[in-house]
Amino acid sequence: MASRVCFVHYHEIGLKGKNRSTFENQLVTNLRRALRRFPVRDVRRISGHILVSLEDGYATEELARAISCVPGVARVSLAYVCDLDEREYCGAAVRALGEAGEFDSFKVHAHRSSTDYELHSLDINRLVGDALCRSFPEKKVRMHSPDVTVYVTVVQGHVYVYAASIVGAGGLPVGTAGKVVTLLSSGFDSPVATWMVGRRGATCVPVHFSGRPMTADTSEYLCRDIVDALEPAGLVGRLYVVPFGERQREISLAVPQSLRIITYRRVMFAVSERIARLEGAKAIVTGESLGQVASQTLDNIAAVNEMATLPVLRPLIGSDKQEIMRRAEQIGTYDISCQAADDCCTLFMPRRPETHARLDQVHEAWESFDHDGMIDDLVSSVEYVDFDQCASYHAPRSLSARHRELAPAEWAAR
Ligand code: ATP
Ligand code: MG
Repeated sequence: MASRVCFVHYHEIGLKGKNRSTFENQLVTNLRRALRRFPVRDVRRISGHILVSLEDGYATEELARAISCVPGVARVSLAYVCDLDEREYCGAAVRALGEAGEFDSFKVHAHRSSTDYELHSLDINRLVGDALCRSFPEKKVRMHSPDVTVYVTVVQGHVYVYAASIVGAGGLPVGTAGKVVTLLSSGFDSPVATWMVGRRGATCVPVHFSGRPMTADTSEYLCRDIVDALEPAGLVGRLYVVPFGERQREISLAVPQSLRIITYRRVMFAVSERIARLEGAKAIVTGESLGQVASQTLDNIAAVNEMATLPVLRPLIGSDKQEIMRRAEQIGTYDISCQAADDCCTLFMPRRPETHARLDQVHEAWESFDHDGMIDDLVSSVEYVDFDQCASYHAPRSLSARHRELAPAEWAAR
């Protein structure tokens, strides 16, 4: 039987002009990392596609599904690999169409990228079409919008034949857009926001603020589970955890009750920005969605946003909860986010949080405690866990050396 490979299609990368090979190489690297549990023989670029083959020559549906989760992949097809032999590739076309599920109509789309084969694509279309009509006499040939298209692609001495495809994650390969720090809670929104920027090519460095030691460390374990769930997409190299409970208690004693959440958030932004600078990240990402909860009104977003000098990206700002939950199910974080855990945000919750913070009051509250000392302290007590799912993540040379370089003078000079 003809061997099978995964034929990987990309779309946006194909539009990248001069940078195209950088994007393609990154996708090849990311696929190798994402597929490390499979006995992969080769991942290589071939005429506008990437081919993935296994040691035994028989790529599987499971391999195709794993490939489809990798950002940058538009579609994956399990293709039969044939020699330049009419009988062989016509036979493969019959098998491929037979495996395509329910259908009434089909067409053949032949494409020849090398001219070392004497038959033109039109001849191949006719040959394969005749073979399929003989094997499926009850089915109709339809040139416009057929139920199934059988692709026959001649490249570098071989013919690849496939019919069905799995839709991929789309977007761009992780590592082509630079690094971002994402604020990750164990709720539904921020894992989705992280996946979305990763899907646009960003290498993600999540930072989680835990209520430890005032709460258990459950939210930290849920965040680790979330990063594990995102493994098929290969977005995350390192998760930072900031034990925030003690400092929240100090804030809750110092500032008016209604401004607690905003003040926590300001500290979270300040610490995240410091981590972003240590990491060389170029933006901060949150899972905020306009008006979803009290802290996400425009006034409150503005009161927190002033703490960041880096751009703050909010990929979910216009999404509604239903869409976010659907996406969470699709990327595998939904069940984890369903498990409630106290994190820093549920700690010392005021009875009536401010929904439209006035900046003068926020500033007054901010000046009522040693915020710079607190931020320094939190940055120096940060903990992290490394993950080996992300090929484009490079850890900062040495966390402590970079700490000295960047903090606190640069911060104070803002
Ligand atoms: P999520 O579902 O992401 O928790 P949410 O709807 O619960 O979001 P908020 O709790 O107001 O909304 O949080 C808004 C954003 O702030 C989150 O999406 C996340 O980016 C960030 N955030 C909230 N809590 C934490 C935390 N404990 N650690 C890190 N970031 C957090
Ligand atoms: Mg939350």
